[in-house]
Amino acid sequence: MSGIDVEEEWKILIGGEHVSTENHYDIIDPNTTEVIGHAPEATDQHAIEAAAAAKEALRSWKALSMDERCGYIGRAADAIESACGDWVNLVQAETGATIRVARTMQVAGAFVDRFRYYSRPHEMEQPLAPLYSAASALAPESLITGNVIRQPVGVVACITPYNFPLVNVAGKLAPALAMGNTAVIKPAPQDPLAIIKLGEILNEVLPPGVVNVIVGSSPDVGAALVDTKDVDMISFTGSSTVGAKIMESGGKTMKRLLMELGGKGALIMTEDCDVQAAVGGIASVWGFHSGQICTAPTRVICHRDIYEPTIEALKAVSEFMTVGDAREEGTLVGPVITESHRDRVEAFIQSGIDDGAEVVVGGERPKQDGFFVAPTLLTDCTPDMHVVKEEAFGPVVVVMPHDGDDHAVELANNSDYGLFSYVYAGNTTRAYEIAQKLESGNVALNSIAPHMYAPFGGFKMSGVGRDRGRWGLEAYSEIQAINWPS
Ligand code: NAD
Repeated sequence: MSGIDVEEEWKILIGGEHVSTENHYDIIDPNTTEVIGHAPEATDQHAIEAAAAAKEALRSWKALSMDERCGYIGRAADAIESACGDWVNLVQAETGATIRVARTMQVAGAFVDRFRYYSRPHEMEQPLAPLYSAASALAPESLITGNVIRQPVGVVACITPYNFPLVNVAGKLAPALAMGNTAVIKPAPQDPLAIIKLGEILNEVLPPGVVNVIVGSSPDVGAALVDTKDVDMISFTGSSTVGAKIMESGGKTMKRLLMELGGKGALIMTEDCDVQAAVGGIASVWGFHSGQICTAPTRVICHRDIYEPTIEALKAVSEFMTVGDAREEGTLVGPVITESHRDRVEAFIQSGIDDGAEVVVGGERPKQDGFFVAPTLLTDCTPDMHVVKEEAFGPVVVVMPHDGDDHAVELANNSDYGLFSYVYAGNTTRAYEIAQKLESGNVALNSIAPHMYAPFGGFKMSGVGRDRGRWGLEAYSEIQAINWPS
């Protein structure tokens, strides 16, 4: 494995010290099924110690001005940028990303940008308008004024999913640190090695204990962070099922919560839309990172008048979605993360077939070794089917016809999820009107491109709270109002 030392000892990071663990577990390349490293197996006690170390570092970190903290984040961005080019092989091996996705999206791009964005200080104070207050038993007559300021929440546990390990962590860590919080990172068990590298770099630049990294194969280490009183906030990205568990157990210690959860993105096509543009949009995400992306438009809701041409166009584009070795330049669709996840996606497709859907593209396991799923298109779908309601987190798209805008909105909203939806219509005004009726945290019109600094988050089971841009800083803060007589 080029550039990867399988015998390298990987350690967790607590209070500025790289700590060896007694046990380790294998990290598997989903492309080849080879072991590429042995990740440290932290215990619950390690998680508790990491939270205590973050608490210890909190006092001096939050005492710095935002300018000073942003200076640290800027230096961290420089250090990460010069080191991370060397992580491409590693990230590709542990995530199964294709070369293009690994180079441009896993390791660079959004990952470094998020540190850069939060290295610029933001004004977070908000003055209150003076308010006349009549004399009362409580206080004499006065004109009261004040300020609303933002305080850090405290120690933030960043618990993240496997699909984009570095990007997911950066999106939490950078705003949390800028606001004056300290952190414990708990990456997904499947691909934690690049996060350990990130911790090493951050530990060289930041004061000890400001960032700690805990890794484990079992959910218990994450659960220990949710339970300990030393953690004030859980910033979680992952499945809605685990998110709900964390909300329940976090309630005991009144954890502040940011929940970025699952999605089943609806893509509405009106009869006057540009079918080729919509199909191009769907195709660019259908097999992207093997469909392991929460914002993917996987529920196509297409006007009946353009239903057949849309399916024909989707069939045509699927011909170009080469499944194969993620290390080959021509590959568009690499493997999904694990054998068990491949089995889950296959069972998901089978449930659609059992419920009466027709497989018009894919549906069969590709021949290669590794955990591959062919891009699959299911038609004849109805709103009550499991494949329509649930997230596959694989390259599976379902199509349903609609009879007009209101019907399309009804079908789109008939979902427990509400993360990212898309509207393709003949003009932006019509698309905008439809968008306003959608129960979805984000909506893109006639495009699949997100605005990277728009508030991001979900309605319903897709989450609680918003991050990115200024909303990221707000998410990692407590509001404090200070008032005085003017
Ligand atoms: P997952 O929910 O299985 O795991 C996410 C993280 O939670 C992992 O680090 C895991 O170890 C940890 N965890 C599991 N049980 C826990 C517990 N009881 N207490 C504390 N931590 C626990 O998710 P996954 O399979 O890694 O990722 C796929 C999911 O993530 C999909 O549902 C996808 O939609 C979602 N996702 C959402 C976004 C978003 O921004 N909304 C982004 C990426 C992925």
